[in-house]
Amino acid sequence: MPKTKNILDLVNNDTGPILDIVRLNSNDTPVIPFTKEYAEVHLHFVHEPDIESYNHCNAPDCVLCDTGRSTTKKLLLPVYLPISNSVGVLPISDARRPGSLLPQILNVIQGGHNQIVFIRKINNFTFDVTTKPLPKGTDNGAKIIKRFITEFDSDRIDISSVYQRLSNEQLAEVPEIKTMMDLKGIPLGS
Ligand SMILES: [Zn+2]
Repeated sequence: MPKTKNILDLVNNDTGPILDIVRLNSNDTPVIPFTKEYAEVHLHFVHEPDIESYNHCNAPDCVLCDTGRSTTKKLLLPVYLPISNSVGVLPISDARRPGSLLPQILNVIQGGHNQIVFIRKINNFTFDVTTKPLPKGTDNGAKIIKRFITEFDSDRIDISSVYQRLSNEQLAEVPEIKTMMDLKGIPLGS
């Protein structure tokens, strides 16, 4: 096995475009839905400063589940982002309370394509969603969406990759997680 590799080999090692998560905030974020296909993911929020982000659940053998940490389910919907002219991944909680994002997005998608949706986060559970028909002459992202769909359909894009996927071994390197594993008597690789 060679000790070094040619970095230019990575040029042809095309794993598709890098996707970004759509991070909603208290200002309107415009998105254009173009597909009904979504991915369902189960995540743990790892609050320790070493990680401090969502991480995929490693079920059925997950040290985070084994140490008693809750998971959260998110539905990931690809949408076109007219501001950055790119496709992003909108994470949607599966909650269906009044004001939740999912029922409002479902309403929009049922209404057909060619709508622009403005989403504003009021708090973690409540979103303000307004729609408008796409103004004539506006770039609807057709070219970028077409390229995305081609790659998505040929499995060259994994939209769940917008979230970190640390292994149990990597997670066990976080001192707080390791201590909890020791307290619960959970061996690594169980
Ligand atoms: Zn888990």
